[in-house]
Amino acid sequence: MASVLISQLDFILFFYGFAFILLGAVCFDVVGKRSGYEAWAVFGTFAFLHGAGEWLDLTALIAGDSPAFKTLRVALTTISFLFLMESARRNLGWLGIEVRKWWIYIVLIILVGGTGIFGGVSLANVVTRCTIGFPAALGMSLVFAHHARRQSGLEKWSAYSIALCLALYGIAAGLIVPSADFWPVSVINATWFRETTGIPIQLIRGVLACWLAASIWALRQRVLVKEVASERYTASARRQGVALLLSMAVILTLGWILTEGLGRIYQRDVEQEARGLIDLVTSRADSESVAVDGMAMVLAGADAIIARTSGAGQADAGRAKSVLDLGVAASRAANGYVLDSKGVPLEAAGLANTSVEAASLGSAAFVQAALLGQPGRHFAYDEGGGSLFYYASYPVRRTDGAIEGVVVLEKSLNALAADANSLNRPFCIIDPRGVVVLANRPSMVGRSMWPLPPAEGARAVAASPPPIRDAMLTRPIVDATWAMLDGDRVFLRRSFLEGTQWSIVIAMPPMEIYASRVVGIAITFFAASFAMIYLLGKEHSLRGRIQTDQRAELRELARELEAQATTDQLTGLYNRHKFNDALAKEMLRAEPLQAPLSLILYDIDHFKAVNDIHGHQVGDKALVRLSRLMTNLIRKTDILARWGGEEFIILAAETDGQMAYRAAQRFGVAISKIEFEEVGPLTCSFGIAQYESGDTPETFVARADEALYRAKLNGRNRAELATGHPVQDVDP
Ligand code: GH3
Ligand code: MG
Ligand code: MG
Repeated sequence: MASVLISQLDFILFFYGFAFILLGAVCFDVVGKRSGYEAWAVFGTFAFLHGAGEWLDLTALIAGDSPAFKTLRVALTTISFLFLMESARRNLGWLGIEVRKWWIYIVLIILVGGTGIFGGVSLANVVTRCTIGFPAALGMSLVFAHHARRQSGLEKWSAYSIALCLALYGIAAGLIVPSADFWPVSVINATWFRETTGIPIQLIRGVLACWLAASIWALRQRVLVKEVASERYTASARRQGVALLLSMAVILTLGWILTEGLGRIYQRDVEQEARGLIDLVTSRADSESVAVDGMAMVLAGADAIIARTSGAGQADAGRAKSVLDLGVAASRAANGYVLDSKGVPLEAAGLANTSVEAASLGSAAFVQAALLGQPGRHFAYDEGGGSLFYYASYPVRRTDGAIEGVVVLEKSLNALAADANSLNRPFCIIDPRGVVVLANRPSMVGRSMWPLPPAEGARAVAASPPPIRDAMLTRPIVDATWAMLDGDRVFLRRSFLEGTQWSIVIAMPPMEIYASRVVGIAITFFAASFAMIYLLGKEHSLRGRIQTDQRAELRELARELEAQATTDQLTGLYNRHKFNDALAKEMLRAEPLQAPLSLILYDIDHFKAVNDIHGHQVGDKALVRLSRLMTNLIRKTDILARWGGEEFIILAAETDGQMAYRAAQRFGVAISKIEFEEVGPLTCSFGIAQYESGDTPETFVARADEALYRAKLNGRNRAELATGHPVQDVDP
């Protein structure tokens, strides 16, 4: 499980980063043009930076890492956690926890930076996570938990969900970190977690990041739903939440399958190519060795050699030597030896440069094997000459089968090495311990491929062991594996040279496999971004539409309220308040122009009796009827209002007292001709006043009122002009 998931690390890092970038976007969307949301902006900045950091980790995984790049990433992680801490610090104020000590950041930066300088970047990464990430995430968790307590419904649960998620994230990103030499990281760390659960911690962090983004999204929706306060929006927000969750789940799953599929296709190609190459190299090596193997067997069966090992005289020695010479030449071996049953050299041929002393041959494992009846094979690397040798040993038996000696042939494999060197893939020949003796990358030679088993490995080696520096891999390759080799991910295939513990390893560069997975990741990224932008765009436009509608409704409401505030409910005429406004305006306009301006105040005669006899409702109808009549009688420029009760007032612009007086008389005649429903005829009395310089609205109306009073006194159903203006009677 772990290894499968680890091979998915690129995709895990992708959606981990994506979730955080999304989280940042949601936070900044909440901030928008609202004020008082600065803490959200700080939290959003953390999310953006952290997401970017995860994507840089992804880049390092794909394109390879370097110390400078790693330092940059740890610095970015540190900065992101500082933002998380700052957003916690700002918000903890709500809980009554005042964290004013901003200088704590300087202390933390010095701590992390110092660790980086003196303890290395990896340790700085651990320290930044433990001392900044962990407390900051817990702080924010507290903030949201506190927020949740004051909320209700979905908002409460979103906030609790965020709080829980942040607490878990604090543990996953701040405590379960690469191991280091201090408690608790020395015990509980990412390796421990992977070995215990089979899951890389990055997967957990990625899932938590998605959860966090979804919860923050839900909280944001609650904020908007409250703000928009529209049923249509609430319903759509719920649908949208579901659509977003589903689409993200579907896109990420399909994207993962696609990425995996694309990676597999290339992986198969790489693996096949590696198999082909290694078969080529091993069969070439085998063809070199098989000639020597065969010749060793032939020589061991030769009479002259059998005679020599069974302790014959000088004549046999001469014969044996020439047979050995022939055999060495025929098999193109470098050297040939005949040893006795104790491993002591009896004859030697060739005497070209060799990697072993003839005298030490007897103790070699492959010679010992032959002395026990098994043909032996061996490779040895001569560091001084830089050559690889192959040895074949074969037991020499008497006719009764007893072993009396060994034939050893030694062959230089330089031709094979030269062939292999021309391969454009990294390739190496590894001794039984796992030490690279020959490679077409000089940096690999002399290093052990994997950690050597204690003591045991060393025994099998013939010549002086080459210097071993740190192992390249963490564990031996059994057959084939994907591994990190000097910071690069490669596919390694190992094949044993026939009958020996020596092996050939070929490394296939991984760039193309990542390139094909990156296509999958990029497609997923674009699909997810497209879905996000589409859904967000839809939401924004719906919100915009609803808010525009709401604004229109509000304007309508304002208009209605304004109308209500200025009109009289019963008659639909202007009310006294509106009339006073109009009067003040007209007076201001008329004064400098010296334009004539008049008021006609009129009151229904004996209206109390109407109410008393016919009831209030009939009285009301009469008031409405009279208002309709008067509205039709006045000029367009006149302003008619209900002054109160059954008293009305007309403001007549560009009209002097005489004109107004005559108009009032006309009105009186017109009213008296009307048959009011259930009531019969009614009459009104009119008081008229012309505006005089120095009038205030109050004195102006008071003069009209005084004239009305006189009209009542003088017998009603008549008009009176306020004093100062002589009355000229005109025929109605
Ligand atoms: P006059 O003006 O000729 O002196 O006699 P009046 O009976 O009209 O006397 P006054 O103006 O003092 O009485 C006003 C009456 O108008 C009192 C009240 O019953 C009636 N009235 C005032 N407002 C309304 C109203 O909104 N609806 C109805 N139906 N009657 C009203
Ligand atoms: Mg009255
Ligand atoms: Mg009256």
